[in-house]
Amino acid sequence: MKKIAILGSTGSIGTQTLELVRDNPDLQVVGLAAGSNIDLLEKQVREFKPRLVSLQSSKACGDLEVRLADLPVEVVCGMEGLIRIAEMEESELLVTAIVGMVGIRPTIAAINKHKDIALANKETLVTAGHIIMPLAKEKGVSILPVDSEHSAIFQSMQGENRERVSRLLITASGGPFRGKTRAELENVQLEDALKHPNWSMGHKITIDSATLVNKGLEVMEAKWLFDMDLDKIQVVVHPQSIIHSMVEYADGGIMAQLGTPDMKLPIQYALFYPDRRPMKGKRVDFYELGCITFERPDMETFTGLKLAMRAAKEGGSVPTVFNAANERAVSLFLTGKIRFVQIPEIIEMCMEAHKRIEAPNVEEILACEQETYEVIESRLIL
Ligand code: NAD
Ligand code: MG
Repeated sequence: MKKIAILGSTGSIGTQTLELVRDNPDLQVVGLAAGSNIDLLEKQVREFKPRLVSLQSSKACGDLEVRLADLPVEVVCGMEGLIRIAEMEESELLVTAIVGMVGIRPTIAAINKHKDIALANKETLVTAGHIIMPLAKEKGVSILPVDSEHSAIFQSMQGENRERVSRLLITASGGPFRGKTRAELENVQLEDALKHPNWSMGHKITIDSATLVNKGLEVMEAKWLFDMDLDKIQVVVHPQSIIHSMVEYADGGIMAQLGTPDMKLPIQYALFYPDRRPMKGKRVDFYELGCITFERPDMETFTGLKLAMRAAKEGGSVPTVFNAANERAVSLFLTGKIRFVQIPEIIEMCMEAHKRIEAPNVEEILACEQETYEVIESRLIL
């Protein structure tokens, strides 16, 4: 029996992880944390019987406690709750399926307690990779990628000599606006941005895919996960999303991982690594597929990717500012307060306003996040 805890159990990655638990009776859920979806969390608790659960607000936690009075489950709350679940004595692996920098402290807490991490929460590595990766090494903890591109790279490295890797090739679908001009982007609407061509995901990452910011975050995530120089990471637009990413070796040979666009495969690979369990679902039919294609990313139109590469190169606290500005800009776009093209403009404004710190600690990272929100609040007329 493998005991796991999940942060973000009511989201896209969280619910797909629970579907895998349903299909694999040797997985046991001991802790679940969610933001505010009390109805779904209650259902999950009744089905999976965790010992500890948490929600974001104390009011929601109080309500959940009343609803679950018939069960032997403890309800905890907010950041303290996330950390309690991350540290649970009986848990062996933590699935970080929460969105945003709120994942930093619980991830560090879990590593300190020697829990392996199935990491979906890329924002944590982007902003605190310089803290997380050395800590994981020190504690002998595995950081297993859930993000499909990083899982593909990880799969393509099995049995290989990592010293011989010459390039990581991260594929990108190009999102719903691939091929559009800057002028055409001016008037795109929220519902268009939420229509991802190949993947069904949470709202924040779906918008990040439309701006190509997601690919920029993934370049930074890959840099930390695989300890790779930025100039050895290339983004390749591949609209069919069949090749999930590739690794080139010193002899020019390229290993790739292919499959239908279904997040359950990378999630399951992280849960059972190094085993490959049978999985239901559609298979790639190459006759039906016919051809797959590749393009260079258009960084002049999708300036979010260009800014991400700049943030990655500058390093230190700059990726935190990039990420925090993007988190806030996306939430303003999702609530109809700004236009799509303002997302990279806001990111750039915050990067310009920031004074870089080399190797920030957790407190400094969280202070940079706050400072970024304040820049947006004070300079943006909504
Ligand atoms: P989502 O919005 O569908 O779900 C997020 C989950 O986190 C929900 O359960 C929500 O309740 C919870 N949450 C949010 N804020 C919280 C808070 N402050 N406290 C406690 N819980 C909170 O998001 P998602 O699409 O599942 O993405 C999760 C992470 O995985 C993101 O970092 C994303 O970039 C990454 N990721 C997602 C996909 C995908 O297919 N969805 C693919 C690759 C990577
Ligand atoms: Mg991805």
